Amino acid sequence: KKLGIALVGLGSYSTYQLAPALQDTQHCYLAGIVTGTPEKEKVWANKYGIPEKNIYNYQNFDDIANNPEIDVVYVVLPNSMHAEFSIRAAKAGKHVICEKPMGISVAECDAIINVCKEAGVKLGMGYRLHSEPYTQQVKEFVREKTFGDVLFVSADAAYRSTGNPEQWRLDKKLSGGGALMNMGVYAVQSAIYGTGENPISVAAQEFSTRPEYFKETDETITAQFKFPSGAVGNISTSHNFNANAMYVSGTSGWFRLQPANNYGPLSGVTSNGDVIKFPHESQQKLQMDDFARHVLFDEPNKAPGEMGKRDMIIVEAIYKSIANGGETISLDFEPGFGFGG
Ligand code: NAD
Repeated sequence: KKLGIALVGLGSYSTYQLAPALQDTQHCYLAGIVTGTPEKEKVWANKYGIPEKNIYNYQNFDDIANNPEIDVVYVVLPNSMHAEFSIRAAKAGKHVICEKPMGISVAECDAIINVCKEAGVKLGMGYRLHSEPYTQQVKEFVREKTFGDVLFVSADAAYRSTGNPEQWRLDKKLSGGGALMNMGVYAVQSAIYGTGENPISVAAQEFSTRPEYFKETDETITAQFKFPSGAVGNISTSHNFNANAMYVSGTSGWFRLQPANNYGPLSGVTSNGDVIKFPHESQQKLQMDDFARHVLFDEPNKAPGEMGKRDMIIVEAIYKSIANGGETISLDFEPGFGFGG
């Protein structure tokens, strides 16, 4: 059986990445859509052969509970809408994939996790990198100590935003925050899988050079982590400059990915002079098939809800550090909390 997925929110990520990827997936397919824009209904129905009974809007969405063709609801809306639609999906008895960031607060992440548990549905994050081979290779280097014990990680996830100043990503009510909420979560993730540890503290700084454009959301943030082993790390995220890399230095060598977190192909080198190279496949295809195998065959959940919550705890700590003039904020995670399978 192939699982039927319904995409909620037909913006650029659904249109250009997820729907095309769902044409190639092995264990799931595009079965339905949920949109607030009536004109999109016909376009998507024609393009992907979606029957009218599998098309919903935000008002009648809860009726999806009665639709046996929809197994999974994939929430691809502005950040502040993730919690509402993930919770409504779970209450309708559907498995949930929630885009990053999981919500706009830790409280929202807890609410999503709890409702999914109560409803007995599976919950996965849209963290596509955990399904692609370069990130697997990073995790293996760290696990196998290929370059010794990790001493330092640096990670950058940023792009230069110059588009419509009215876009939701620059509207705090809809985004919950700026670069950190959008790209910063990738840098946080890299720091964690680059060391194999959750951080024990973070201190952060914010920089603003175009306040007339970034009226209410963060433009550039840097943050420094300490890890239980003694390793340290530095991340940057921005909507003002382009950056996409991670670097890990250990007791006996180093490796670098650049790019490290875009849609690929990614690319890497090591201190041994090796090039890290894998055949390119759609990350979104790999990610959705991994989640479908988790649902269908009980295979490990590579990006569980706890991972999204962990990252939001770190995001909140970074904002708290900035609000307190760069104060070091302690973090208290169980070892391995939020790590995927
Ligand atoms: P987008 O702006 O292209 O699309 C947003 C969609 O939400 C549109 O279809 C819009 O009509 C709809 N929407 C509903 N209510 C809205 C409102 N009040 N304001 C604005 N739009 C509203 O955004 P996107 O790039 O598709 O991002 C959607 C989500 O996916 C975000 O949470 C983003 O972080 C995430 N995303 C993840 C990745 C990834 O690689 N995992 C990549 C891109 C986006």
